Amino acid sequence: MAPTAKDFRRVMGLFATGVTVVAAYDGGAIRAATVNAFTSVSLEPLLVLVGLHKESRTGQAIRRSEGFSVNILREDGLALANHFAGKPQEGLPVTFLPFAGGPRLEGALASLGLRLEAVYPGGDHLLFLGRVEALYEGEPGGPLVFWRGGYRLLREPSLSPLQEADPFAPPLPPEPIYHEHEP
Ligand SMILES: Cc1cc2nc3c(=O)[nH]c(=O)nc-3n(C[C@H](O)[C@H](O)[C@H](O)COP(=O)(O)OP(=O)(O)OC[C@H]3O[C@@H](n4cnc5c(N)ncnc54)[C@H](O)[C@@H]3O)c2cc1C
Repeated sequence: MAPTAKDFRRVMGLFATGVTVVAAYDGGAIRAATVNAFTSVSLEPLLVLVGLHKESRTGQAIRRSEGFSVNILREDGLALANHFAGKPQEGLPVTFLPFAGGPRLEGALASLGLRLEAVYPGGDHLLFLGRVEALYEGEPGGPLVFWRGGYRLLREPSLSPLQEADPFAPPLPPEPIYHEHEP
């Protein structure tokens, strides 16, 4: 039987990602969304790729402004992730600062300022290729991680005590933190 969308989501959920907030200038305003479809593409030139649903208002703003930013969330960024995924968090301080391509989200672990290089169709999503114009690194810290539909923390040191004792022991599943989340 052909794989269903549910099967696909379950399998893709096994691929751990960071969590980003993609932001773009939209006229005098700013439009932003939580995104984990983000990857580096090329070193010469420096290129990254972001996938956004065809209906995404952030995607539309990127096309209009021909630029965007990708802001990598820190491990304390759960409220920001929820907020920019359409679950507004009352009283959450959100500050965007001027940056190349799109605005930079204050408090991110790191940010990339990008000029829109190309847009490709990708089924019900659009793929935005961005050329890196600026990089920003915040204070050192750990990233917010998304795995199997839930937010996780990347614990340091990266090896569990069991693995330190026996490097061939099966890895311990990371404890889910916060709550399970369907994007
Ligand atoms: C872990 C995770 C990963 C995801 N990955 C992807 C992905 O890779 N691709 C994808 O297409 N979708 C992804 N989503 C879903 C996506 O975040 C939501 O669909 C989101 O609503 C995007 O819609 P939009 O661009 O139309 O933004 P909107 O729905 O317009 O905005 C998203 C939220 O951010 C708030 N917001 C927007 N701009 C500002 C601003 N300037 N100041 C303050 N608040 C603002 C809005 O009020 C709204 O609540 C993901 C969701 C999660 C939880």
